[in-house]
Amino acid sequence: MPKELNAQLRSEGFDEVCSVYSEEEALLEASRCIQCKDPACISGCPVGIDIKKFISQIVDKDYKGAYFTIREKNNFPAMCGRVCPAEYQCRKVCVFTKKGSPFASDKAINIHFLERFVADFGIDNGLDISAEKDKKLKAYKVAVVGSGPAGLCCAGELARKGIKVVLFEALHKSGGVLRYGIPPFRLPQEILDFEIGNLKKLGVEIECNIIIGKTKSLNELFDEGFKAVFLGLGAGVPSFLGIPGENLCNIYSANEFLTRVNLMGAYKFPQYHTPINVGKHVVVIGGGNTAMDAARVALRLQKLHNIPADVTVFYRRTENEMPARRLEILHAKEEGIKFEFLVQPVEFKGDNENSFVSKIRSLRCELGEPDDSGRRRPVAIKGSEFEVDCDEAIIAVGLKANQVLIQVTPELKIDKWSDIIVDPITMQTSIKSVYAGGDVVGGEGTVIEAMGMAKKASAAIEEYLLKQ
Ligand code: FAD
Repeated sequence: MPKELNAQLRSEGFDEVCSVYSEEEALLEASRCIQCKDPACISGCPVGIDIKKFISQIVDKDYKGAYFTIREKNNFPAMCGRVCPAEYQCRKVCVFTKKGSPFASDKAINIHFLERFVADFGIDNGLDISAEKDKKLKAYKVAVVGSGPAGLCCAGELARKGIKVVLFEALHKSGGVLRYGIPPFRLPQEILDFEIGNLKKLGVEIECNIIIGKTKSLNELFDEGFKAVFLGLGAGVPSFLGIPGENLCNIYSANEFLTRVNLMGAYKFPQYHTPINVGKHVVVIGGGNTAMDAARVALRLQKLHNIPADVTVFYRRTENEMPARRLEILHAKEEGIKFEFLVQPVEFKGDNENSFVSKIRSLRCELGEPDDSGRRRPVAIKGSEFEVDCDEAIIAVGLKANQVLIQVTPELKIDKWSDIIVDPITMQTSIKSVYAGGDVVGGEGTVIEAMGMAKKASAAIEEYLLKQ
Protein backbone atom coordinates (compact mmCIF):
# COMPACT_ATOMS: atom_id res chain seq x y z
CA MET A 1 0.00 0.00 0.00
CA PRO A 2 1.23 3.51 -0.71
CA LYS A 3 1.23 5.97 2.20
CA GLU A 4 -2.08 7.43 3.34
CA LEU A 5 -3.04 10.47 5.35
CA ASN A 6 -3.77 9.62 8.96
CA ALA A 7 -7.50 8.82 9.36
CA GLN A 8 -8.16 11.49 11.99
CA LEU A 9 -6.34 14.20 10.06
CA ARG A 10 -7.78 13.40 6.65
CA SER A 11 -11.38 13.28 7.86
CA GLU A 12 -11.08 16.93 8.86
CA GLY A 13 -10.66 18.05 5.27
CA PHE A 14 -10.93 17.10 1.62
CA ASP A 15 -7.23 16.50 0.82
CA GLU A 16 -6.36 13.40 -1.16
CA VAL A 17 -6.19 10.35 1.13
CA CYS A 18 -3.79 8.07 -0.79
CA SER A 19 -0.32 9.11 -1.83
CA VAL A 20 1.45 7.94 -4.91
CA TYR A 21 4.03 5.14 -4.57
CA SER A 22 7.58 6.36 -4.09
CA GLU A 23 9.99 5.11 -6.77
CA GLU A 24 11.31 2.56 -4.32
CA GLU A 25 7.82 1.28 -3.48
CA ALA A 26 6.86 1.11 -7.16
CA LEU A 27 10.00 -0.85 -8.04
CA LEU A 28 9.39 -3.26 -5.18
CA GLU A 29 5.75 -3.82 -6.15
CA ALA A 30 6.52 -4.15 -9.89
CA SER A 31 9.27 -6.67 -9.14
CA ARG A 32 6.65 -9.00 -7.56
CA CYS A 33 4.97 -9.44 -10.97
CA ILE A 34 6.03 -12.82 -12.38
CA GLN A 35 5.33 -11.73 -15.99
CA CYS A 36 2.89 -14.59 -16.73
CA LYS A 37 3.12 -16.13 -20.20
CA ASP A 38 -0.60 -15.68 -20.68
CA PRO A 39 -1.45 -12.69 -18.46
CA ALA A 40 -5.11 -12.74 -17.39
CA CYS A 41 -4.85 -9.19 -15.99
CA ILE A 42 -4.91 -7.72 -19.51
CA SER A 43 -8.25 -9.34 -20.33
CA GLY A 44 -9.47 -8.30 -16.86
CA CYS A 45 -9.00 -4.66 -17.91
CA PRO A 46 -12.03 -3.39 -19.88
CA VAL A 47 -9.76 -1.20 -22.05
CA GLY A 48 -7.08 -3.88 -22.45
CA ILE A 49 -4.01 -2.03 -21.10
CA ASP A 50 -0.84 -4.07 -21.68
CA ILE A 51 -0.31 -4.44 -17.94
CA LYS A 52 2.46 -7.01 -18.24
CA LYS A 53 4.48 -4.69 -20.49
CA PHE A 54 4.08 -1.50 -18.45
CA ILE A 55 5.03 -3.35 -15.26
CA SER A 56 8.17 -4.75 -16.86
CA GLN A 57 9.02 -1.22 -18.06
CA ILE A 58 8.73 -0.03 -14.45
CA VAL A 59 11.13 -2.79 -13.39
CA ASP A 60 13.54 -1.47 -16.07
CA LYS A 61 13.02 2.08 -14.72
CA ASP A 62 11.65 3.03 -18.14
CA TYR A 63 8.81 5.11 -16.66
CA LYS A 64 8.39 7.12 -19.84
CA GLY A 65 7.92 3.93 -21.84
CA ALA A 66 5.47 2.64 -19.24
CA TYR A 67 3.48 5.89 -19.54
CA PHE A 68 3.16 5.56 -23.31
CA THR A 69 2.26 1.87 -23.04
CA ILE A 70 -0.69 2.83 -20.82
CA ARG A 71 -1.67 5.80 -23.01
CA GLU A 72 -1.91 3.48 -26.03
CA LYS A 73 -5.14 2.19 -24.49
CA ASN A 74 -6.14 4.73 -21.87
CA ASN A 75 -6.17 8.52 -22.09
CA PHE A 76 -6.95 8.89 -18.38
CA PRO A 77 -4.41 6.87 -16.37
CA ALA A 78 -4.24 9.33 -13.47
CA MET A 79 -7.99 9.13 -12.91
CA CYS A 80 -8.19 5.36 -13.40
CA GLY A 81 -5.14 4.76 -11.20
CA ARG A 82 -7.09 6.49 -8.42
CA VAL A 83 -10.63 5.19 -8.79
CA CYS A 84 -10.58 1.88 -10.68
CA PRO A 85 -12.06 -0.95 -8.61
CA ALA A 86 -9.09 -3.09 -9.60
CA GLU A 87 -10.01 -5.74 -7.03
CA TYR A 88 -13.02 -6.67 -9.20
CA GLN A 89 -11.17 -6.32 -12.50
CA CYS A 90 -7.47 -6.78 -13.38
CA ARG A 91 -6.36 -7.75 -9.85
CA LYS A 92 -9.20 -10.26 -9.46
CA VAL A 93 -7.71 -12.38 -12.24
CA CYS A 94 -4.07 -11.85 -11.21
CA VAL A 95 -2.28 -15.16 -10.77
CA PHE A 96 -1.89 -14.32 -7.07
CA THR A 97 -5.68 -14.33 -6.53
CA LYS A 98 -7.25 -17.74 -5.99
CA LYS A 99 -9.55 -18.68 -8.91
CA GLY A 100 -13.23 -18.01 -8.19
CA SER A 101 -12.60 -15.47 -5.38
CA PRO A 102 -15.25 -12.71 -5.28
CA PHE A 103 -12.48 -10.09 -5.25
CA ALA A 104 -8.69 -9.88 -5.47
CA SER A 105 -6.48 -11.32 -2.78
CA ASP A 106 -4.18 -8.94 -0.89
CA LYS A 107 -1.29 -10.67 -2.64
CA ALA A 108 -2.46 -9.68 -6.14
CA ILE A 109 -0.18 -7.09 -7.74
CA ASN A 110 -1.37 -3.56 -6.98
CA ILE A 111 -1.78 -2.74 -10.66
CA HIS A 112 -3.85 0.40 -10.04
CA PHE A 113 -1.25 1.91 -7.70
CA LEU A 114 1.45 1.20 -10.30
CA GLU A 115 -0.73 2.81 -12.97
CA ARG A 116 -1.08 5.89 -10.78
CA PHE A 117 2.69 5.98 -10.18
CA VAL A 118 3.32 6.00 -13.94
CA ALA A 119 0.49 8.49 -14.62
CA ASP A 120 1.75 10.94 -12.00
CA PHE A 121 5.26 10.56 -13.41
CA GLY A 122 3.76 11.53 -16.77
CA ILE A 123 2.11 14.62 -15.26
CA ASP A 124 5.26 15.68 -13.38
CA ASN A 125 7.38 15.27 -16.51
CA GLY A 126 4.98 16.85 -19.00
CA LEU A 127 4.53 13.65 -21.03
CA ASP A 128 1.71 13.61 -23.56
CA ILE A 129 0.71 12.01 -26.85
CA SER A 130 -0.15 13.67 -30.11
CA ALA A 131 -2.85 12.67 -32.57
CA GLU A 132 -1.98 10.32 -35.43
CA LYS A 133 -4.21 12.23 -37.86
CA ASP A 134 -5.83 10.17 -40.60
CA LYS A 135 -6.26 12.28 -43.77
CA LYS A 136 -9.70 10.92 -44.64
CA LEU A 137 -11.08 11.02 -41.10
CA LYS A 138 -9.97 14.65 -40.69
CA ALA A 139 -12.89 15.66 -42.88
CA TYR A 140 -15.50 14.46 -40.36
CA LYS A 141 -17.17 15.98 -37.34
CA VAL A 142 -18.59 13.85 -34.50
CA ALA A 143 -20.71 15.03 -31.57
CA VAL A 144 -20.28 13.44 -28.16
CA VAL A 145 -23.05 14.01 -25.64
CA GLY A 146 -22.09 13.79 -21.97
CA SER A 147 -18.62 14.38 -20.52
CA GLY A 148 -18.37 11.51 -18.04
CA PRO A 149 -15.76 8.77 -18.56
CA ALA A 150 -17.69 7.32 -21.53
CA GLY A 151 -17.94 10.63 -23.39
CA LEU A 152 -14.39 11.70 -22.52
CA CYS A 153 -12.98 8.37 -23.65
CA CYS A 154 -14.91 8.30 -26.93
CA ALA A 155 -13.93 11.91 -27.65
CA GLY A 156 -10.25 11.15 -26.97
CA GLU A 157 -10.15 8.06 -29.16
CA LEU A 158 -11.77 9.87 -32.10
CA ALA A 159 -9.62 12.97 -31.70
CA ARG A 160 -6.49 10.82 -31.77
CA LYS A 161 -7.52 9.79 -35.27
CA GLY A 162 -7.87 13.42 -36.32
CA ILE A 163 -11.68 13.50 -36.27
CA LYS A 164 -13.12 16.86 -35.20
CA VAL A 165 -14.98 16.22 -31.94
CA VAL A 166 -17.34 18.53 -30.08
CA LEU A 167 -18.35 17.32 -26.63
CA PHE A 168 -21.63 18.68 -25.23
CA GLU A 169 -22.21 18.70 -21.48
CA ALA A 170 -25.38 19.70 -19.64
CA LEU A 171 -23.60 20.85 -16.47
CA HIS A 172 -21.33 23.89 -16.19
CA LYS A 173 -18.22 21.72 -15.78
CA SER A 174 -17.08 18.59 -17.60
CA GLY A 175 -16.30 15.23 -16.00
CA GLY A 176 -19.69 13.67 -15.19
CA VAL A 177 -19.58 11.59 -12.00
CA LEU A 178 -15.81 12.13 -11.84
CA ARG A 179 -16.59 15.79 -11.16
CA TYR A 180 -19.90 15.87 -9.30
CA GLY A 181 -19.95 12.45 -7.62
CA ILE A 182 -16.46 11.30 -6.62
CA PRO A 183 -15.14 13.59 -3.87
CA PRO A 184 -11.80 15.41 -4.18
CA PHE A 185 -10.24 13.35 -1.39
CA ARG A 186 -10.39 10.38 -3.79
CA LEU A 187 -9.96 12.20 -7.09
CA PRO A 188 -8.61 15.77 -6.84
CA GLN A 189 -10.28 18.13 -9.30
CA GLU A 190 -6.83 19.25 -10.58
CA ILE A 191 -6.15 15.71 -11.80
CA LEU A 192 -9.45 15.72 -13.66
CA ASP A 193 -8.69 19.16 -15.11
CA PHE A 194 -5.24 17.99 -16.18
CA GLU A 195 -6.45 14.93 -18.06
CA ILE A 196 -9.39 16.80 -19.61
CA GLY A 197 -6.82 19.46 -20.59
CA ASN A 198 -4.87 16.76 -22.47
CA LEU A 199 -8.05 15.96 -24.37
CA LYS A 200 -8.43 19.60 -25.39
CA LYS A 201 -4.83 19.55 -26.61
CA LEU A 202 -5.83 16.67 -28.87
CA GLY A 203 -8.36 19.06 -30.40
CA VAL A 204 -11.56 18.16 -28.54
CA GLU A 205 -13.87 21.15 -28.13
CA ILE A 206 -15.99 21.10 -24.96
CA GLU A 207 -19.27 23.01 -24.79
CA CYS A 208 -20.82 23.06 -21.32
CA ASN A 209 -24.33 24.19 -20.31
CA ILE A 210 -25.86 22.50 -23.35
CA ILE A 211 -28.54 19.88 -22.85
CA ILE A 212 -29.00 17.83 -25.98
CA GLY A 213 -32.72 17.14 -26.18
CA LYS A 214 -33.54 20.58 -24.73
CA THR A 215 -31.03 23.25 -25.83
CA LYS A 216 -30.79 21.49 -29.17
CA SER A 217 -32.11 18.22 -30.56
CA LEU A 218 -30.27 15.23 -31.93
CA ASN A 219 -31.51 16.15 -35.43
CA GLU A 220 -30.11 19.65 -35.08
CA LEU A 221 -26.69 18.11 -34.48
CA PHE A 222 -26.92 16.33 -37.83
CA ASP A 223 -28.13 19.56 -39.45
CA GLU A 224 -24.98 21.23 -38.08
CA GLY A 225 -22.87 18.74 -40.02
CA PHE A 226 -22.03 16.12 -37.39
CA LYS A 227 -21.79 12.77 -39.17
CA ALA A 228 -22.19 10.60 -36.08
CA VAL A 229 -23.18 11.07 -32.44
CA PHE A 230 -22.04 9.22 -29.31
CA LEU A 231 -24.35 9.28 -26.29
CA GLY A 232 -22.61 8.97 -22.92
CA LEU A 233 -25.56 10.29 -20.93
CA GLY A 234 -24.83 8.38 -17.73
CA ALA A 235 -27.18 7.31 -14.98
CA GLY A 236 -27.94 10.22 -12.70
CA VAL A 237 -31.58 9.64 -11.82
CA PRO A 238 -31.72 8.45 -8.21
CA SER A 239 -33.81 5.53 -6.99
CA PHE A 240 -35.64 5.92 -3.69
CA LEU A 241 -36.82 3.47 -1.07
CA GLY A 242 -40.55 4.15 -1.55
CA ILE A 243 -41.26 4.14 2.19
CA PRO A 244 -43.44 6.48 4.27
CA GLY A 245 -41.85 9.79 5.24
CA GLU A 246 -39.32 9.79 2.41
CA ASN A 247 -40.35 13.31 1.33
CA LEU A 248 -39.53 14.86 4.72
CA CYS A 249 -37.00 17.72 4.76
CA ASN A 250 -33.29 16.85 5.09
CA ILE A 251 -33.61 13.59 3.17
CA TYR A 252 -31.29 13.79 0.16
CA SER A 253 -30.55 11.54 -2.77
CA ALA A 254 -26.80 10.86 -2.68
CA ASN A 255 -26.46 12.44 -6.12
CA GLU A 256 -27.97 15.74 -5.01
CA PHE A 257 -25.93 15.72 -1.80
CA LEU A 258 -22.63 14.97 -3.56
CA THR A 259 -23.33 17.44 -6.38
CA ARG A 260 -23.91 20.26 -3.88
CA VAL A 261 -20.67 19.41 -2.11
CA ASN A 262 -18.32 18.49 -4.97
CA LEU A 263 -19.53 20.42 -8.01
CA MET A 264 -21.13 23.36 -6.21
CA GLY A 265 -18.24 23.76 -3.77
CA ALA A 266 -19.91 23.19 -0.37
CA TYR A 267 -16.70 21.40 0.64
CA LYS A 268 -14.94 24.76 0.47
CA PHE A 269 -17.03 26.17 3.36
CA PRO A 270 -16.82 28.99 4.51
CA GLN A 271 -15.50 30.26 1.13
CA TYR A 272 -18.58 28.85 -0.59
CA HIS A 273 -22.08 29.21 0.79
CA THR A 274 -23.75 26.46 -1.22
CA PRO A 275 -26.77 25.46 0.86
CA ILE A 276 -26.31 22.03 2.40
CA ASN A 277 -27.75 20.63 5.59
CA VAL A 278 -25.22 19.28 8.07
CA GLY A 279 -27.03 16.88 10.39
CA LYS A 280 -26.05 15.79 13.89
CA HIS A 281 -27.13 12.20 13.28
CA VAL A 282 -26.64 11.27 9.63
CA VAL A 283 -27.81 7.95 8.21
CA VAL A 284 -26.67 6.88 4.74
CA ILE A 285 -28.62 4.06 3.14
CA GLY A 286 -26.81 1.84 0.60
CA GLY A 287 -23.65 -0.22 0.17
CA GLY A 288 -21.97 0.97 -3.04
CA ASN A 289 -19.29 3.54 -3.83
CA THR A 290 -21.93 6.24 -3.81
CA ALA A 291 -22.93 5.37 -0.24
CA MET A 292 -19.30 5.31 0.92
CA ASP A 293 -18.61 8.69 -0.71
CA ALA A 294 -21.77 10.23 0.75
CA ALA A 295 -20.94 8.94 4.26
CA ARG A 296 -17.33 10.13 4.17
CA VAL A 297 -18.36 13.52 2.81
CA ALA A 298 -21.09 13.87 5.48
CA LEU A 299 -18.54 13.12 8.20
CA ARG A 300 -16.13 15.71 6.82
CA LEU A 301 -18.90 18.32 6.68
CA GLN A 302 -19.76 17.65 10.32
CA LYS A 303 -16.13 18.26 11.28
CA LEU A 304 -15.93 21.37 9.08
CA HIS A 305 -18.97 22.75 10.90
CA ASN A 306 -17.71 21.70 14.38
CA ILE A 307 -20.44 19.13 14.88
CA PRO A 308 -19.43 15.90 16.68
CA ALA A 309 -19.02 13.15 14.09
CA ASP A 310 -21.99 10.76 13.86
CA VAL A 311 -22.56 9.06 10.52
CA THR A 312 -23.97 5.54 10.15
CA VAL A 313 -24.34 3.46 6.99
CA PHE A 314 -27.39 1.17 6.83
CA TYR A 315 -26.98 -1.72 4.42
CA ARG A 316 -29.50 -4.51 3.96
CA ARG A 317 -26.99 -7.28 3.31
CA THR A 318 -23.62 -8.02 4.96
CA GLU A 319 -20.23 -6.45 4.33
CA ASN A 320 -19.32 -9.32 1.98
CA GLU A 321 -22.08 -8.36 -0.44
CA MET A 322 -21.26 -4.64 -0.44
CA PRO A 323 -20.48 -3.53 -4.00
CA ALA A 324 -18.24 -0.64 -2.89
CA ARG A 325 -14.49 -0.78 -3.44
CA ARG A 326 -12.87 -2.62 -0.51
CA LEU A 327 -10.46 0.27 0.07
CA GLU A 328 -13.35 2.75 0.39
CA ILE A 329 -15.06 0.55 3.01
CA LEU A 330 -11.81 0.27 4.95
CA HIS A 331 -11.18 4.02 4.76
CA ALA A 332 -14.73 4.78 5.87
CA LYS A 333 -14.31 2.53 8.92
CA GLU A 334 -10.93 4.03 9.79
CA GLU A 335 -12.43 7.52 9.65
CA GLY A 336 -15.12 6.62 12.16
CA ILE A 337 -18.17 5.84 10.01
CA LYS A 338 -20.41 3.30 11.77
CA PHE A 339 -22.04 0.42 9.92
CA GLU A 340 -25.35 -1.33 10.56
CA PHE A 341 -25.52 -4.42 8.37
CA LEU A 342 -28.65 -6.47 7.59
CA VAL A 343 -30.94 -3.51 8.18
CA GLN A 344 -33.91 -2.43 6.07
CA PRO A 345 -35.43 1.04 6.72
CA VAL A 346 -39.24 0.98 6.68
CA GLU A 347 -40.24 4.52 7.69
CA PHE A 348 -38.85 8.01 8.20
CA LYS A 349 -40.49 9.91 11.03
CA GLY A 350 -40.64 13.70 11.21
CA ASP A 351 -40.76 16.28 13.96
CA ASN A 352 -44.39 17.27 13.85
CA GLU A 353 -43.76 21.01 13.68
CA ASN A 354 -41.51 21.51 10.65
CA SER A 355 -41.66 18.29 8.65
CA PHE A 356 -37.96 17.65 9.15
CA VAL A 357 -36.80 14.04 9.49
CA SER A 358 -36.06 13.11 13.11
CA LYS A 359 -36.02 9.30 13.29
CA ILE A 360 -35.67 6.28 11.07
CA ARG A 361 -37.55 3.05 11.79
CA SER A 362 -35.98 -0.17 10.45
CA LEU A 363 -36.18 -3.94 10.51
CA ARG A 364 -33.29 -6.35 11.01
CA CYS A 365 -32.77 -8.84 8.16
CA GLU A 366 -31.18 -12.20 7.51
CA LEU A 367 -29.85 -13.51 4.22
CA GLY A 368 -32.14 -15.78 2.18
CA GLU A 369 -31.86 -17.33 -1.28
CA PRO A 370 -29.75 -15.62 -4.00
CA ASP A 371 -31.59 -13.07 -6.19
CA ASP A 372 -31.09 -12.29 -9.92
CA SER A 373 -27.74 -10.62 -9.15
CA GLY A 374 -26.49 -13.83 -7.51
CA ARG A 375 -26.28 -12.14 -4.12
CA ARG A 376 -28.29 -13.59 -1.23
CA ARG A 377 -31.54 -11.71 -0.78
CA PRO A 378 -32.14 -9.90 2.53
CA VAL A 379 -35.24 -11.17 4.32
CA ALA A 380 -36.78 -9.00 7.05
CA ILE A 381 -37.09 -10.60 10.49
CA LYS A 382 -40.57 -10.20 11.97
CA GLY A 383 -40.74 -8.20 15.18
CA SER A 384 -37.16 -6.92 14.85
CA GLU A 385 -38.12 -3.25 14.49
CA PHE A 386 -35.90 -0.57 15.96
CA GLU A 387 -35.63 3.21 15.74
CA VAL A 388 -32.65 5.55 15.74
CA ASP A 389 -32.34 9.35 15.77
CA CYS A 390 -31.70 10.73 12.32
CA ASP A 391 -31.89 14.41 11.37
CA GLU A 392 -30.36 13.88 7.94
CA ALA A 393 -30.68 10.87 5.64
CA ILE A 394 -28.85 10.28 2.37
CA ILE A 395 -30.27 7.67 0.05
CA ALA A 396 -27.78 5.82 -2.14
CA VAL A 397 -29.70 2.79 -3.35
CA GLY A 398 -29.18 3.01 -7.10
CA LEU A 399 -29.28 5.22 -10.14
CA LYS A 400 -31.17 5.06 -13.42
CA ALA A 401 -30.35 6.36 -16.89
CA ASN A 402 -30.62 10.12 -17.56
CA GLN A 403 -33.82 10.53 -19.53
CA VAL A 404 -33.93 14.08 -20.97
CA LEU A 405 -32.72 13.14 -24.44
CA ILE A 406 -34.28 9.68 -24.43
CA GLN A 407 -37.75 11.05 -23.71
CA VAL A 408 -37.76 13.39 -26.69
CA THR A 409 -36.22 10.86 -29.09
CA PRO A 410 -38.75 8.03 -29.50
CA GLU A 411 -36.69 6.45 -32.33
CA LEU A 412 -34.06 5.62 -29.69
CA LYS A 413 -35.01 2.13 -28.47
CA ILE A 414 -34.75 1.50 -24.75
CA ASP A 415 -35.15 -1.59 -22.54
CA LYS A 416 -37.40 -2.15 -19.52
CA TRP A 417 -34.98 -0.23 -17.28
CA SER A 418 -35.03 2.71 -19.75
CA ASP A 419 -31.39 2.06 -20.69
CA ILE A 420 -30.49 2.59 -24.35
CA ILE A 421 -30.40 -0.65 -26.36
CA VAL A 422 -27.22 -1.09 -28.44
CA ASP A 423 -25.49 -3.67 -30.58
CA PRO A 424 -22.99 -5.14 -28.07
CA ILE A 425 -20.13 -5.18 -30.60
CA THR A 426 -20.52 -1.77 -32.24
CA MET A 427 -22.53 0.06 -29.54
CA GLN A 428 -24.77 1.32 -32.34
CA THR A 429 -28.26 2.31 -31.17
CA SER A 430 -31.52 1.87 -33.07
CA ILE A 431 -30.59 5.08 -34.96
CA LYS A 432 -27.98 4.34 -37.65
CA SER A 433 -25.33 6.95 -36.95
CA VAL A 434 -25.96 7.20 -33.20
CA TYR A 435 -23.87 5.18 -30.76
CA ALA A 436 -24.03 4.94 -26.97
CA GLY A 437 -22.03 3.62 -24.04
CA GLY A 438 -21.40 3.85 -20.31
CA ASP A 439 -24.03 3.79 -17.58
CA VAL A 440 -26.83 4.83 -19.96
CA VAL A 441 -26.38 1.46 -21.63
CA GLY A 442 -25.38 -1.01 -18.98
CA GLY A 443 -26.84 0.63 -15.90
CA GLU A 444 -24.60 1.66 -13.03
CA GLY A 445 -21.10 0.35 -13.71
CA THR A 446 -17.55 1.53 -13.29
CA VAL A 447 -15.42 4.24 -14.85
CA ILE A 448 -13.30 1.79 -16.81
CA GLU A 449 -16.31 -0.24 -17.97
CA ALA A 450 -17.85 2.97 -19.34
CA MET A 451 -14.56 3.65 -21.11
CA GLY A 452 -14.45 0.08 -22.46
CA MET A 453 -17.84 0.61 -24.11
CA ALA A 454 -16.79 4.02 -25.43
CA LYS A 455 -13.72 2.47 -27.04
CA LYS A 456 -15.85 -0.10 -28.85
CA ALA A 457 -18.13 2.70 -30.05
CA SER A 458 -15.26 4.89 -31.24
CA ALA A 459 -13.83 2.00 -33.29
CA ALA A 460 -17.26 1.43 -34.87
CA ILE A 461 -17.75 5.17 -35.54
CA GLU A 462 -14.36 5.28 -37.26
CA GLU A 463 -15.32 2.33 -39.45
CA TYR A 464 -18.68 3.94 -40.21
CA LEU A 465 -17.04 7.22 -41.24
CA LEU A 466 -14.47 5.47 -43.43
CA LYS A 467 -17.34 3.86 -45.36
CA GLN A 468 -18.94 7.25 -46.11
P1 FAD B 1 -21.52 9.92 -16.14
O1 FAD B 1 -20.25 9.94 -15.43
O2 FAD B 1 -22.77 9.94 -15.35
O3 FAD B 1 -21.56 11.17 -17.13
C1 FAD B 1 -22.68 11.48 -17.91
C2 FAD B 1 -22.65 12.96 -18.26
O4 FAD B 1 -23.62 13.21 -19.26
C3 FAD B 1 -23.01 13.84 -17.08
O5 FAD B 1 -22.02 14.84 -16.92
C4 FAD B 1 -24.34 14.47 -17.48
O6 FAD B 1 -24.52 15.78 -17.00
C5 FAD B 1 -24.24 14.45 -19.00
N1 FAD B 1 -25.54 14.44 -19.69
C6 FAD B 1 -26.60 13.64 -19.45
N2 FAD B 1 -27.60 13.91 -20.31
C7 FAD B 1 -27.15 14.92 -21.11
C8 FAD B 1 -27.74 15.63 -22.20
N3 FAD B 1 -28.97 15.36 -22.62
N4 FAD B 1 -27.01 16.61 -22.80
C9 FAD B 1 -25.75 16.89 -22.36
N5 FAD B 1 -25.14 16.24 -21.34
C10 FAD B 1 -25.84 15.26 -20.73
N6 FAD B 1 -16.72 3.86 -10.62
C11 FAD B 1 -15.45 3.46 -10.45
O7 FAD B 1 -14.89 2.83 -11.33
N7 FAD B 1 -14.76 3.74 -9.31
C12 FAD B 1 -15.29 4.48 -8.31
O8 FAD B 1 -14.63 4.72 -7.32
C13 FAD B 1 -16.62 4.97 -8.48
N8 FAD B 1 -17.19 5.76 -7.54
C14 FAD B 1 -18.41 6.31 -7.77
C15 FAD B 1 -18.93 7.21 -6.85
C16 FAD B 1 -20.16 7.79 -7.09
C17 FAD B 1 -20.69 8.79 -6.10
C18 FAD B 1 -20.92 7.44 -8.23
C19 FAD B 1 -22.29 8.04 -8.48
C20 FAD B 1 -20.43 6.52 -9.14
C21 FAD B 1 -19.16 5.96 -8.93
N9 FAD B 1 -18.60 5.08 -9.85
C22 FAD B 1 -17.32 4.63 -9.67
C23 FAD B 1 -19.30 4.73 -11.08
C24 FAD B 1 -18.79 5.56 -12.26
O9 FAD B 1 -18.56 6.89 -11.86
C25 FAD B 1 -19.77 5.51 -13.43
O10 FAD B 1 -19.92 4.17 -13.81
C26 FAD B 1 -19.26 6.34 -14.61
O11 FAD B 1 -19.09 7.69 -14.24
C27 FAD B 1 -20.21 6.26 -15.79
O12 FAD B 1 -19.71 7.08 -16.79
P2 FAD B 1 -20.67 7.72 -17.89
O13 FAD B 1 -19.79 8.52 -18.78
O14 FAD B 1 -21.50 6.66 -18.50
O15 FAD B 1 -21.69 8.67 -17.10
